[in-house]
Amino acid sequence: MLQPKYHAHMDEMVDILIVGGGLVGSSLAIALDGAGLRVALAEAAAPKAANSIQSGQPSYDERNLALARASVNGLTALGVWEKVAAKATPIRRLHVSRRGEFGAARLDAAAHGLDAFGATLPARELGNGLLARLDACRTLMRLAPASLRTLDFAVDAISATLATPAGEQRLRARLVVGADGTNSFVRGTSGIQTDNVDYAQTAFVATVTPQRAIDGCAYERFTATGPVAVLPLGERRAGVVLTVPTADAARVGALDDAGFIALLHERFGYRLGRLSRPGKRVSYPLARVMAQRLVAPRTVVVGNAAQTLHPIAAQGFNLGLRDALTLAEMLIEHMRFDGDPGDVDLLARYAARRREDREGTAAMSNGLARWTANEALPLKLARSLGLVALDRIAPLQDMFVRRGMGFRGEVPRLALGDLG
Ligand SMILES: Cc1cc2nc3c(=O)[nH]c(=O)nc-3n(C[C@H](O)[C@H](O)[C@H](O)COP(=O)(O)OP(=O)(O)OC[C@H]3O[C@@H](n4cnc5c(N)ncnc54)[C@H](O)[C@@H]3O)c2cc1C
Repeated sequence: MLQPKYHAHMDEMVDILIVGGGLVGSSLAIALDGAGLRVALAEAAAPKAANSIQSGQPSYDERNLALARASVNGLTALGVWEKVAAKATPIRRLHVSRRGEFGAARLDAAAHGLDAFGATLPARELGNGLLARLDACRTLMRLAPASLRTLDFAVDAISATLATPAGEQRLRARLVVGADGTNSFVRGTSGIQTDNVDYAQTAFVATVTPQRAIDGCAYERFTATGPVAVLPLGERRAGVVLTVPTADAARVGALDDAGFIALLHERFGYRLGRLSRPGKRVSYPLARVMAQRLVAPRTVVVGNAAQTLHPIAAQGFNLGLRDALTLAEMLIEHMRFDGDPGDVDLLARYAARRREDREGTAAMSNGLARWTANEALPLKLARSLGLVALDRIAPLQDMFVRRGMGFRGEVPRLALGDLG
């Protein structure tokens, strides 16, 4: 039905409309709650039914997230960590190696005066923790299921149309935040272009039981056909991310348990003894999608909408959370002086502040994904020397550890934890 034109100015007005209640959009909504801003969060998937184990949200799934220390700090400050801590496993050691080459880097948190580098947590558990924390938000307007359909830009606000089971809902917002994932509608509609790379790799995610206790160690192993990560999940289980060339994905997807375990051993070796009891396998095609700009008039993109990375370095959510925490910090500060949340200068300052962390983290993820797929001999040597150097040289380790934990560029205050 066509709405008469004069209805437009009667649409409800909010300061900020967050589109996408995934891991990053939900974190942003929580960070902004109670700060005196009118915030709406619109998520396309229906909220979790009270007695179901899993919400319908696409990324609250089987993937096991490695959370950097900065993210644990941030989630603690948001009141989310207390809801998920019992399900998390600390990462106390890292082991980085390459198949067929000498040299491995071993890093121990204790040697850096830390109890842990970070923690692992199934995305489903983090998703449930975020949903529970959202339920406790005092001022947030939650719309779910509500799918963004149109955005109309005006000088003073953006009008949004959302499809809900009760029909179309319209809202006006002074700032629209696109937290709507890799294929972001907000990004596309606001004219932000992307640079895309298809890695022609597919990641298989599963859990296994290693014969030897994994003992808080996270393994990254590079092989000619793609990287393998093995993460600690509690005392007895391990989360596996096995990357294969996409040309081989159909074959790997069709393997039975024994075939999958054999492939894992071929790629990862026997450093944890025999692996057994593989759980459900889920696969993800891997591409890199980088927005050319983070902001457009009255619009900003965060998380996967801003940058979707290869999961090899386990940085996607970690980086996206730092987007959210930084944006929340700057918006709250700006609004103390009754500012406009869609202010051009504010958005430009946000984009500038995110540059170093974003570009550095994306370059590291891309570098690892590509570098390790290259078989040329001088590179092989450099890689082994690199791992040996990382194993032996303390300042290099310190830098690696600091960056790996998510402390790069101007760190959002909420992520500083006891460093703040
Ligand atoms: C195999 C794998 C392993 C990974 N491991 C790690 C790891 O160890 N550590 C790490 O930090 N990261 C990891 N990542 C990356 C991490 O999962 C993502 O970076 C993270 O999920 C991004 O969150 P997001 O909220 O930006 O996007 P998403 O989680 O994709 O959420 C987007 C949300 O927007 C909603 N939406 C979309 N369109 C609309 C619309 N039009 N209207 C309303 N809502 C909409 C969707 O329903 C969805 O809920 C991994 C990724 C993969 C694939």
